[in-house]
Amino acid sequence: MSDQPHSEHSLAPGLYIVATPIGNLGDITLRAIDVLRKCDGVACEDTRVTGKLMKHLGISKPLWRYDDHSEHRDRTRLVESMRSRAVALVSDAGTPLVSDPGYRLVNDCRGEGIAVTAIPGPCAAVMGLSLSGLPNDRFLFAGFLPAKDKARRAVLEELGGVNATLVFYETAPRLTKSLAAIDAVLPDREVAVGRELTKLYEDMRRGLPAGLMAHFEANPPKGEIVLLIEPPVEVEASQLDTDLLLRQALQTMKTSQAAAHVAKATGRDRKTLYARAMELKAE
Ligand code: SAM
Repeated sequence: MSDQPHSEHSLAPGLYIVATPIGNLGDITLRAIDVLRKCDGVACEDTRVTGKLMKHLGISKPLWRYDDHSEHRDRTRLVESMRSRAVALVSDAGTPLVSDPGYRLVNDCRGEGIAVTAIPGPCAAVMGLSLSGLPNDRFLFAGFLPAKDKARRAVLEELGGVNATLVFYETAPRLTKSLAAIDAVLPDREVAVGRELTKLYEDMRRGLPAGLMAHFEANPPKGEIVLLIEPPVEVEASQLDTDLLLRQALQTMKTSQAAAHVAKATGRDRKTLYARAMELKAE
């Protein structure tokens, strides 16, 4: 956006995606304030929510309600206006487009050659990931789990095999139902529940789904929640495990069959297992 002429007091025309706090108003960035102060208007999910933030910042700007279901005509008009105006896009909290409106707007801007930039900031999914202590080299953010039990389990079955930490958004009334579904589908997987992040009663709790379910049944949760599930634990069979599996297999199978069976179960080399099976038989 820097190639457009603009002064210290104005912004180049285009779309500015502005992240806002997820609870703690101190988390707004200096750049976010600068863009909100200099833009020509703010497209937002709920003008009352954004109005409060603007008031807190002492900024007065036109606020336009926008969501991805807004009429195509309205969106086209908004995009067209960005040829000469700087428009900020904010959501009720956090980073726009992350389980929030904006995707269609950004897509249309790109299609129309409108300049788009983002002012990054808070995001509950990322904060949950940082705080949980679960592996973060690979993660899969999957939005909200479905409200219906069958669909919820189907999603957990579908994503349960993915080699990544799973990150979901959750609501307080549904938390124990989701934990029950995780307990049914992925009972041995460690779960982290982050609540009210950046707020006064911020809480991050880890455990197996059954234990967390018991805790939250006894202490019904309030507030906003991020739910994380650890990746599948890679089962690397130790020599002891392998010997045990081979001994068990040898009770009912021939040596070659036992080696093939254990090779399939552990991913180990069949010839090596055959040699080890012969040693075990000779003991
Ligand atoms: N765009 C937002 C972001 O960047 O995090 C998320 C919007 S989504 C509609 C709202 C959900 O985010 C909430 O239902 C909750 O699951 C999660 N969330 C938002 N703020 C949170 C907070 N302070 N603590 C925990 N979860 C939060």
